[in-house]
Amino acid sequence: MSRLSPELEALVQARIGYYRDLGVYDFYRRGEPDSAALESIAAAGTPAVADEPAPAALSSSPFILSSDPEPVIPARKPLTPPPALVPAIIPAAKRPAALEEIRAEIGECTRCPLAFQGRHKIVFADGDPNARLMFVGEGPGADEDAQGLPFVGRAGQLLNNMIGAMGLKREQVYIANVVKCRPPQNRTPEPEEANTCMQFLWKQIDVVRPEVMVALGATAATYLLGRKTSLASLRGRIHDVRGSKLIVTYHPAYLLRDPTQKKEAWKDLQIAMRELGLKSVQGS
Ligand code: URA
Repeated sequence: MSRLSPELEALVQARIGYYRDLGVYDFYRRGEPDSAALESIAAAGTPAVADEPAPAALSSSPFILSSDPEPVIPARKPLTPPPALVPAIIPAAKRPAALEEIRAEIGECTRCPLAFQGRHKIVFADGDPNARLMFVGEGPGADEDAQGLPFVGRAGQLLNNMIGAMGLKREQVYIANVVKCRPPQNRTPEPEEANTCMQFLWKQIDVVRPEVMVALGATAATYLLGRKTSLASLRGRIHDVRGSKLIVTYHPAYLLRDPTQKKEAWKDLQIAMRELGLKSVQGS
């Protein structure tokens, strides 16, 4: 069997790592490796989460990890892309009711495994349905799970301070998470969980229509942008997500662990402030 060039091997390894992150572990061989196919897979780069090819496509790829007879590949739940069309703007007065409708649709949700892993309360959102600024976190922690509100624990206190430093009150912004149920031990939500829950966050975004969104940490950035990229490469830029300007910054829980990064986060928040036409009231 011919060996891959070191560059190609590194690309293939990166691609395998990416699929592992998505929960895809099994790669099967069908036929002989085809070097042209290999080049095109390697050249395609990291796909968007929303555009992820079905694992069946992998079966014809040359990731040769098994020489077993051709397996039956179980169907996987497709990844959830954002709804294709941004619906018409909902008048400000109707937004609270529209959000309540989304909350009612969620109900006592059992759509993903988080419903059965110790969840107490579904954490829908907090804040102004007509906010110009929206924060998106990863998922509830223990305090949020107990109270049914996002960012009410230690990370929430820091987020409140960050909002205050922007010259705003918490009640003036809208706060939500990628997943609405607490992952056990505060682990990162699995792709299946996040992709199942994102449909509701997209609906909330489409109702609130914030001018600016701030993704708090890599999980929020990944699912809002539909691609997995380092936080470093996403910070310092304005991304366009469903008509809102998206700024990416560190998660407050990370800032609690490494307070030296607060000044970096402040730079990100200042981009958001500039876009909103807000004046700085304090420096950190
Ligand atoms: N961390 C999050 O990402 N969200 C919360 O609501 C609380 C902590």
